[in-house]
Amino acid sequence: MSWTHVCVSTVCRRLASGFISPRIFTNSQPYYPSRILCRQMGSDTKAISVKLNGSGLIRSHGLIGGKWTEAYDGKTLEVLNPATGEVITTVPFMAGRETNDAIASAQEAFASWSKLTATERSKRLRKWYDLLISHKEELGQIVTLEQGKPVKEAIGEVTYAANFIEFYAEEAKRVYGDIIPTTSVDRRFFILKQPIGVVGLITPWNFPIAMITRKVAPALACGCTVVIKPSELTPLTALAAAELSIQAGIPPGVVNVVLGDAPAIGEALLASTQVKTISFTGSTAVGKKLMAGAAATVKKVSLELGGNAPCIVFDDADIEVAVKGTLAAKFRNTGQTCICANRVLVQEGIYDKFADAFSNAVKSLKVGNGFEEGVVLGPLINDAAVQKVETLVQDAVSKGAKILAGGNRHSLGMTFYEPTVIADVKCEMRISSEEVFGPVAPLLKFKTEEEAIHIANDTTAGLASYIFTRSVQRSWRVAEALEYGIVGVNEGLVSTEVTPHGGMKQSGLGREGSKYGMEEYLEIKYVCLGNLI
Ligand code: ADP
Repeated sequence: MSWTHVCVSTVCRRLASGFISPRIFTNSQPYYPSRILCRQMGSDTKAISVKLNGSGLIRSHGLIGGKWTEAYDGKTLEVLNPATGEVITTVPFMAGRETNDAIASAQEAFASWSKLTATERSKRLRKWYDLLISHKEELGQIVTLEQGKPVKEAIGEVTYAANFIEFYAEEAKRVYGDIIPTTSVDRRFFILKQPIGVVGLITPWNFPIAMITRKVAPALACGCTVVIKPSELTPLTALAAAELSIQAGIPPGVVNVVLGDAPAIGEALLASTQVKTISFTGSTAVGKKLMAGAAATVKKVSLELGGNAPCIVFDDADIEVAVKGTLAAKFRNTGQTCICANRVLVQEGIYDKFADAFSNAVKSLKVGNGFEEGVVLGPLINDAAVQKVETLVQDAVSKGAKILAGGNRHSLGMTFYEPTVIADVKCEMRISSEEVFGPVAPLLKFKTEEEAIHIANDTTAGLASYIFTRSVQRSWRVAEALEYGIVGVNEGLVSTEVTPHGGMKQSGLGREGSKYGMEEYLEIKYVCLGNLI
């Protein structure tokens, strides 16, 4: 039996059972060649895959000390296309030993990378930015292939990802220290800012490249070296970006990528005394584990965790702006972002009008394979994600909520879900307190500004929030009262590389992007120069 046959029949079995998730192979099982398995794909996807195969950007190995590396025990992991369930390729399923070697390579490279002048590091980062931009189409296609988002949105993500590198190439030159006025005439006080050392970066699947560059760019700009662990669901974009970092002249060992057994890799990063900080984006549950694990070596952690974003539409909102903004805040990436509007709070005077206009707009959103023309909503990442959405919708409906649009799995099958609006949602329903991470907008009615602020803040999360109002006074009042790291006022798309991203409460620690993003990767050193007289 050929490898193609083995693989196709396995995928068919899993499609039939309705369960799609990547599998791990040991070296005694069929090992797939390190390239895209186009023979299993539909014709559109196949043509794109053939082109990508020739681009040199498809890498099916981890990167340790500048060498493309297999798992030491030969284990591999399938990477699946969520829109079709087909196997794209396999990557190594690495664990602790490979991670320790990656850390050692990063430690060795730190000695020289941190000693380069900021201008020199900046030049290499700038070159990396140029390469990402000149390959944005191919990189966007890789994102769509493994993550599912519409290719136009995926190319947008690549540009956004590259922008972090450009921004931090510039910031590298602005790591200023301080001179503090002395308290005695024979002493002077100096503050140095120095790179913290090797850093571990753990990233999720919803933004396979932007979540990586948002961490790598400031780390490298400061003079740190990195071990990246991308999500096992979307490793190919990370590897393609790493390939371009090599082409940009970033030296071996500065950027390392390990893939595979998340807990084992996490353990190795936590246990190492050489790793000085871990920057993580992902679930609150895993973030808490990492924070607890970091205590053993008193490691710094930077965490961007789950959200429960309120989107508040006041009676005095411009309804067109509110519908457009809520649509963008809710449905970007098929609702799979931690800053997605999770609860739409609508004031009673505008509720019916807004519900009507919003559900009409939602009904017009085209769902499908991200490579298809006009598609704005791709599939959810896997079946577990769809099951969670179904459970939350069923819970709300069973407690009295009303479906205004969608409400079911999409007729396309696989992991596609209909864009959905639910009315009459109450705070007691699970959908009001749990992160939906899917294309479902629950509408809750409120009477007063105080009530809206109370409902919005009555959660353990505190990442993003949105308000829609024409009143300048109310904008400030409510923005100041919201316990959230990010507030969008009359705006549903708030992320940029020049502004700080991060949460309050259990949504995390630290900030990414902007000048504040550098602080995660710097140590402050106080030098006292004495006996000057
Ligand atoms: P999501 O539900 O968004 O996938 P996770 O927190 O499970 O969020 O995953 C985010 C990232 O954390 C992924 O790269 C995943 O592999 C990694 N991860 C999951 N569990 C652990 C763990 N125990 N230690 C370290 N990393 C982990």
